Amino acid sequence: MDVAEQPNRRSVFVQDQAGLDVRDRPAITAEVERLLTFRTRDIRLKGEIKELFQARTWSQTAKIIRAWMIWVAVLHVMTMMTCILLLPAEVSTSMLLPGALIVPAVLAVIVVWRKPYAKWLQGFSLIAGISLVLVSVALIGVNAGGEFYERNLHIMLFTAISAIIIFGIPLSWTVTIAVIALSLYLVFQLANPTLALGSAISSTLFFTAGIFATVAARRNMTLLAVKTFLFELRDRRRVVELAEVNDRLKLLARTDPLTGLANRRWMTETLDHIWGEGPKGVGRVVMLMCDIDDFKKLNDHLGHAEGDRCLINVATIIRNSVRHDVDHVARYGGEEFLVLLPGLGVQEAAIVAERIRENVESAAISNPGSRYARHVTLSIGLAAKEADDEALSSEQLQSNADAALYVAKHSGRNRVEIHELRPRGTGNRLVHG
Ligand code: GH3
Ligand code: MG
Ligand code: MG
Repeated sequence: MDVAEQPNRRSVFVQDQAGLDVRDRPAITAEVERLLTFRTRDIRLKGEIKELFQARTWSQTAKIIRAWMIWVAVLHVMTMMTCILLLPAEVSTSMLLPGALIVPAVLAVIVVWRKPYAKWLQGFSLIAGISLVLVSVALIGVNAGGEFYERNLHIMLFTAISAIIIFGIPLSWTVTIAVIALSLYLVFQLANPTLALGSAISSTLFFTAGIFATVAARRNMTLLAVKTFLFELRDRRRVVELAEVNDRLKLLARTDPLTGLANRRWMTETLDHIWGEGPKGVGRVVMLMCDIDDFKKLNDHLGHAEGDRCLINVATIIRNSVRHDVDHVARYGGEEFLVLLPGLGVQEAAIVAERIRENVESAAISNPGSRYARHVTLSIGLAAKEADDEALSSEQLQSNADAALYVAKHSGRNRVEIHELRPRGTGNRLVHG
């Protein structure tokens, strides 16, 4: 493959489970930036970004809710067993009926919160489930009477507070749970025959203040989570942008700006990479060192701009004369091009080299000052490395190709010369193409 055309394969590391890849979503990006200009307490998520946040936090929230439900059920069953063991039979029996509501209510919520069903169903199941738990806890105390009446109302409020503080749910749901808990508390306090009206109201007011402080704390926690989420979106986008800019810079640093081919640096990296795989990994490979003949004369006669156009044309011809997906072409110097043909033997590569030379010649690019033809011609030095030639380094292969090019230049130009190794011990010789 042409090195300059190697696809930019930076891994898509930005994709994540919650679909937070927002690179191509300018509207969301703009909204994130806008929201981050607000004070934390003024941040309000809307529309798609709100859905993204909920999708991002759902599984964690659901896990917490399910764990809380299990905790309530286990605690309830243990309390009931202790009561049966330790309390008089008529008291513990009176607790059993209202207590029987808790486990089914909890299980129903757990079932609904195993999957992200419709939002209304999630909200309804959670609020209904918690309400049933709270009513049950209160009724256990009311039925048992005496010290249990007041105590269970407090247990009910504690249960509600624990849910309010740990559930990362919409504020409206949290407030609904708080209002339901306080209403139940007030109703049962007012129904308590042993309690004066003033005492019922004052204790309700006391707990109202406490519960709403808890709601406020929960709201702050949610806002901080929202802000963290916005920072996360911004960071992800910036990391991706940075990586993309980095990739572009890398490509620019390795590409010849005139011809669009790989430059010498990239070809050196490619050679290092191929040879870095170890002697066995390199296999057979052929290197062509191509040099335009009398190019200086073209510049002298037609000007530098025409010289540049000639370089672009020759680069395109070379690239189109080789396999796009396997071979590597680089502009190696001013009017020199290096072609790497992996997997080819000398004879096959000589055909490719000859094709390149012919294609350049038949393009008939004007070079009026050339001493060898009226048009642009190319001299090519070819050097091969056989698969079993494990000791041959890329530098040696280059110098062999250079040597072949030198011969091509000095034997008339516009030709392909092959550098071939003689049988060991008899030295190298150059074979004319
Ligand atoms: P030979 O047949 O021996 O290769 O002769 P030559 O004239 O091609 O080689 P020489 O090394 O004498 O000259 C190469 C010229 O290439 C000199 C330089 O001005 C020109 N050159 C190098 N880079 C560029 C370029 O980017 N644009 C243009 N227009 N000319 C360039
Ligand atoms: Mg040259
Ligand atoms: Mg030249």
